[in-house]
Amino acid sequence: MSHLCRACGTQYAGDAPPDRCPICDDPRQYVPHDTGQVWVPWDAYLDSHEADIHDDHGILGIGATPEFGIGQRALLVESAAGNVLWDCIPYLDDTIVERVTAEGGLAAIAVSHPHFYTAMVEWAHAFGCPILVHESERPWVMRPDPSIRFWEGETHSLASGLTLVRCGGHFEGSQALHWAERRALLVGDTVQVIPDRSFVGFMRSYPNLIPLPAAKVQAIAAALEPFAFDAIYGGWWGRVVDGDGSAVVRRSAERYVLALESGV
Ligand SMILES: [Zn+2]
Ligand SMILES: [Zn+2]
Repeated sequence: MSHLCRACGTQYAGDAPPDRCPICDDPRQYVPHDTGQVWVPWDAYLDSHEADIHDDHGILGIGATPEFGIGQRALLVESAAGNVLWDCIPYLDDTIVERVTAEGGLAAIAVSHPHFYTAMVEWAHAFGCPILVHESERPWVMRPDPSIRFWEGETHSLASGLTLVRCGGHFEGSQALHWAERRALLVGDTVQVIPDRSFVGFMRSYPNLIPLPAAKVQAIAAALEPFAFDAIYGGWWGRVVDGDGSAVVRRSAERYVLALESGV
């Protein structure tokens, strides 16, 4: 038995949910003012939602409908060295298990930061694979499990050409996944894909509009500088920069720092 926080989609194990959701109590998320903290039993949620699996700019996206929590989708990174699920959703059913199994299963799950941890342990158990998150985010794991492997340092190679990059910023251990073969960077919202695809955004909190200091935005850009990429895959359906990604990050960091310094 487990419960999901309705606002953020984080899964908590146990017969009864906790009093509060620490993810939502944190200034980077929020408890909705109109409902307060709401818990949804896992089974009831599964019964009222269905899988949504389709291509998103060349990568298989996996989500659920109707929208729940923060409404993200995961991505299936298909690699000869084994598939990696990038980011996660608060949903898993037979349709998804069968489809992912048909694509070769999962060698690993890697999740950008705590807002996307959701039901990652449920997925790890279903596919018998480890979950890779950065050591800095250990306090934000709400469902501890032996499948979760914490890595330390600035980069971590998952397989040839698949590299986790610690960017920090939004969360200290916010990570991106560089997929060399595709020249793609998968980011969650550590780097935020915005309506103008020639730029991206950076924030400590998106819903609460809390900015990051210049040094942390520069550190994100510096962490990504060694990696060449064209596409940037954000955490939601269709949030994709299709080209010129390395330059987009570089010029966006410059624009951000200039705006903080001069207001323009
Ligand atoms: Zn929550
Ligand atoms: Zn986030």
